[in-house]
Amino acid sequence: MPGNVDNDARRPLLRLLAAGCLAMLLAGGSAVADRSAAPATPVAAPASPVPLPEPAASPPPRPAVTAPSATPSQASPAPASGTPQPLPTMVTPTPPPEPGTGRAHLLANGRRQPAKVRVPRSASGRYTVVPGTAAPPRGKGKVVRYVVEVEKGLPFDPEEFAAEVHRILNDPRGWGYRFKRVPRGPARIRVSLSSPALTDRRCLPLRTMGRLSCWNGGRAVINAVRWNQGVPGYGRDVASYREYVISHEVGHGLGHGHVSCPGRGRRAPVMLQQTKSLYGCRPNPWPFPGRR
Ligand SMILES: [Zn+2]
Repeated sequence: MPGNVDNDARRPLLRLLAAGCLAMLLAGGSAVADRSAAPATPVAAPASPVPLPEPAASPPPRPAVTAPSATPSQASPAPASGTPQPLPTMVTPTPPPEPGTGRAHLLANGRRQPAKVRVPRSASGRYTVVPGTAAPPRGKGKVVRYVVEVEKGLPFDPEEFAAEVHRILNDPRGWGYRFKRVPRGPARIRVSLSSPALTDRRCLPLRTMGRLSCWNGGRAVINAVRWNQGVPGYGRDVASYREYVISHEVGHGLGHGHVSCPGRGRRAPVMLQQTKSLYGCRPNPWPFPGRR
């Protein structure tokens, strides 16, 4: 049966079962699909509240009426001539933000968030390796050489992507290796930002349906749609989701398989398929979140 996203979407239970079977089949294998959350019903990200301007100043209080008056004329005494009337207090409303500004730096979970872009379903189908090298941090850990490549035609700057991957991999909360980015082999891992169409091809025989990321054939195939949008479990915190998906897929490359949520309210292990569900856990992008 050809991959039919709509068909799948109408049968979430079946898909869940299939994904579970796939995960079980693949446990310990070399290829692991990660179902990026793509619920049948799109989960609306909370609309970013548009601050409304403060309402104009309240109307000035009515003049105190000291004695009930039977007639309107008596209730509105004429101002005494020559007495300056107090002007109503003017409140300058806070100007609303200009449209389009600040979108690149939306805050979510206390973090600056990347600007959203439009990711095409398919691009050139060919990777460009990010040139140059990025040195690993100092230390005694084992050096792991890796390559970063970005599909030509995607709306992401390859250098920026590579810098983000390098930062994530070498974070103290990461896997504990010293990752060195190189422009060519030998390299243990390739991190490959890919359009949905290319993701599907690179992840074969896994069915990624344009929505998944995977580890397959020495590649952490990162679906550019997920890189751009994140997943509902992380809300609007795409920055943290990016840390998760890199840590998770590279974790497969280092030999780690999937694990379960240890209990409701606990911090999710990085090898939990957090894009699929948090299973009652709290999102966590890091292998060793307590390290500094
Ligand atoms: Zn996985």
